[in-house]
Amino acid sequence: MSQRPVRVRFAPSPTGPLHIGGLRTAIFNYLIAKQNNGVFILRIEDTDQTRFVPGAEEYIINSLKWAGIVPDEGVSFGGEYGPYRQSDRKSIYKAYADQLISSGNAYYSFDTPEELDKLRKEHEARKETFIYNAAVRDGLNNSLKMTDEEIQKHLSSGQPYVIRFKFDPGEEIVMQDLIRGEVRVQAATLDDKVLFKSDGMPTYHLANVTDDYLMKISHVIRGEEWLPSLPLHVALYKAFGWESSMPEFAHLPLILKPDGKGKLSKRDGDKGGFPVFPLEWKDPESGETSSGYREAGYFPEACVNILAFLGWNPGTEQEIFTLPELAAIFSLEKVGKSGSKFDPDKAKWYNHQYLQQKSDAELSKSFAELLQTKGVELPDSPKLQKITGLVKERANFVRELWDHADFFFVRPTAYDPEVVKKRWNPQVAEQMKQILELLERSDDFTAQSLEPKVKTFIEEKAFGMGQIMNALRLCLVGTSKGPGIFDISEILGKEEVILRIRNAVFQFEN
Ligand code: GLU
Repeated sequence: MSQRPVRVRFAPSPTGPLHIGGLRTAIFNYLIAKQNNGVFILRIEDTDQTRFVPGAEEYIINSLKWAGIVPDEGVSFGGEYGPYRQSDRKSIYKAYADQLISSGNAYYSFDTPEELDKLRKEHEARKETFIYNAAVRDGLNNSLKMTDEEIQKHLSSGQPYVIRFKFDPGEEIVMQDLIRGEVRVQAATLDDKVLFKSDGMPTYHLANVTDDYLMKISHVIRGEEWLPSLPLHVALYKAFGWESSMPEFAHLPLILKPDGKGKLSKRDGDKGGFPVFPLEWKDPESGETSSGYREAGYFPEACVNILAFLGWNPGTEQEIFTLPELAAIFSLEKVGKSGSKFDPDKAKWYNHQYLQQKSDAELSKSFAELLQTKGVELPDSPKLQKITGLVKERANFVRELWDHADFFFVRPTAYDPEVVKKRWNPQVAEQMKQILELLERSDDFTAQSLEPKVKTFIEEKAFGMGQIMNALRLCLVGTSKGPGIFDISEILGKEEVILRIRNAVFQFEN
């Protein structure tokens, strides 16, 4: 990578919630910034007012904050190169469009939408695609063949116009991409794209390139869907005479559906039961809610780790990385060219790993919040930590701690009929009564003391070890799940254990 100060930007358009592909783009930009002591910028590209969605900008900012990918400069973060919202920079762009007109790199086009539509349809009928370029532009209603006077007349008539880039049809555009290497395109195959509209707004292309230049962006790291725009952007740098400050480009591979057949969409998430957005999003128009990673119980660190591995890998076996670790090791050269399949099970696996890394003390705080919503009595903190430690290995998400530990808080009243059928019979019932007597005589209920005592008793009496253990579990838990039976007994305590066994024996007898 070049030696200039690293300034990268994430430049989303606020047209809805941020797809995880967008968040991944932000993460890769962030990593490149951090690894080079550079600056990570958030620029909001909202020049297309027709696609503006209220709340989307705030959603993007909240998503970045949640993920810990906090911009150094940008909308709501300040900085010396602002404003960072393109609608607030409106007055900047016209002069640049005018500059291209004066230098002969752009022209006014007065063709009406109806005229262009007619041309498109005529081409379609001949199974051709209409491209507004050198092959046809001389015969169309634009300023190329007009005198200055004619142009002024058109402009002052108030009729709508656009400013188009004028590609030189003889030129071959040579581009370098940090992921894809050299890419070459013949300018003759390209459309003279619109740069500026008579409503006073620039198009994405003009605003994007101008802002990258003005904000001294060193690397443009964005999704593959922008690769087709690269020839125009490179041509614009040349036309402006900004070639020496042109950023380096890297176009990231797509995130694919789990089966690899096409781009991951919101519908795939709905179908597969996994979110494709970082945070929950309520569509302001339809009121429809889409699920988010945060609400689904993912830790932000896990989410970042999952996304970092979509399209990139370190080339080693290590899969768990913190943000600073990622920043130390990440490189665009190790980003692949081909799309990367999203694997929902792997995503859960990552969250599981992060959950295991949390201390029992930390995790039990989140668990306590969950318990409050369940309306159960909170145990003291050491006890809750112990419970958390006993079940966390089985959980992918904090909410699953409840599924694996509910019986600590709620005495079973119903018993799993399958388990009862398998584990309970008159002989077991008789033996359990003797176990109950043994427990009543015991005062030390720590697992350490209880386990040898009960096991020796079972051996002396020649009861079936597995049988008794399963029956005990059924009495205490109500089914066959849960951690070690003596750990459960220690936490429940003598009184509760005896009560639960009595309840069960009574129920099965009657
Ligand atoms: N506004 C574009 C988007 O929504 C930005 C593309 C780019 O980074 O140049 O993704």
